[in-house]
This record gives sequence, structure tokens and C-alpha cells, in this order.
Amino acid sequence: MTHHCSTGIIFLGPPGSGKGTQAQLLAESYELSHISTGDILRRSIVEKTPLGLQAQNYVERGELVPDQLLLDLINEALQNNNSPSGWILDGFPRTVVQASFLDELLKKFSQTSVYVVNLEVPEDVLLERLLLRGRQDDTAEIIRRRLEVYHNQTAPVLDYYQSKGELHRVNGDRQLEEITSSLKELIAA
Ligand code: AMP
Repeated sequence: MTHHCSTGIIFLGPPGSGKGTQAQLLAESYELSHISTGDILRRSIVEKTPLGLQAQNYVERGELVPDQLLLDLINEALQNNNSPSGWILDGFPRTVVQASFLDELLKKFSQTSVYVVNLEVPEDVLLERLLLRGRQDDTAEIIRRRLEVYHNQTAPVLDYYQSKGELHRVNGDRQLEEITSSLKELIAA
């Protein structure tokens, strides 16, 4: 990481890949703001904000919240970011529409070196981890739907970054510390 430049990490990976945990750890190590769209949405739902009321139905069913709501959300989150070191996006982008919007938005952040990282974990391991996690949207049926939604709508985001030559792939089926080390090596390189 250079000093004059801030860092942006775009964390991709299916539900249960551990990206939330790793994002949290990296955010602490590098003083980056951890922007989790899932956390923001869950908080908005609890607080019954206009965003929360619009998003609730989708989140509870394991469907993606409509792009327009997320575009407004991420725009605001990045504008309001107050960490000079940078940010980590956890859970965004999840569609190609969101990814190309983000590209446009990031053109305004010319001082930020952006890393796009996918945490790769086999499907059976994901299922096992999600069933153990026990979040409200972690019932067997909704988990199945979230993985399906991931394959249909979010996997194309990997191709989007891959074809731009920007995708870094990290094996997420290892000990937590080993994954963190790989991620740190990547960012330091
Ligand atoms: P997560 O905590 O990242 O697994 O997100 C939980 C839920 O929030 C997802 O299942 C979606 O319903 C919604 N969500 C989070 N991020 C996005 C996004 N970028 N686009 C659409 N929906 C999202």
C-alpha cells in the first residue's frame, strides 16, 4: 500500500464465503471503512427507514433488492466515507448493472487503488457454513434461493471483472488466518 494513495477493496464471493469476516479483519488492520450493503439493509429494516421498508420483502426472501435502491445506497456510502485510508465493499456489486455503475462512480476516485477480490469456496462448504450461521435469512430454503440468485445474477459480475483483467481469485476454503494472509499479500504487492 503506498502512502499518497488510498485503498479500495471490492469483495466478491458467494454467501457463506467468509467475505464479511475477512472484510472486517482487513478493515481493522488497514483502517478502512467496511461498507457492507447487507448490514446497511438489515439495519434499515430494523429501523423501518424508507429504504428498509422497500428492501424488507426482498431480503427476507433471499432475492436481490432492486438495483436502483442499491445504487443510491452505495453512492451515499462512498460519498460519506470518512476514512482517509479507503474502504472495503462487502456485498456490492451483485449485478452487472451495479458493477458498471460502480465503475463510473470510481472514476471520481482517481487517488484510490482498487482491488477486486473473489473468495472461492466449494458449494458444499458454503451450504454447511450457512446452515451453521443461523441468521434470519439462513433457513435451508432461503439459503438455496440465495445461492441460486448468486449463480444467476452475481456470477456474471466475476466475468465482468475477469474480462477487464481485474479479478483476483483467492482460495477461501482454508483456515481463516491463511486467507487473511493471502489477502494482505495481495494488497501489499
Ligand atoms: P448479505 O449480508 O451480503 O448476504 O446480504 C443480505 C441480503 O441483502 C441479500 O440476500 C440481498 O437481499 C440484500 N443485498 C445485499 N447487498 C445487495 C446488493 N448489492 N444488491 C441487491 N441486494 C443486496
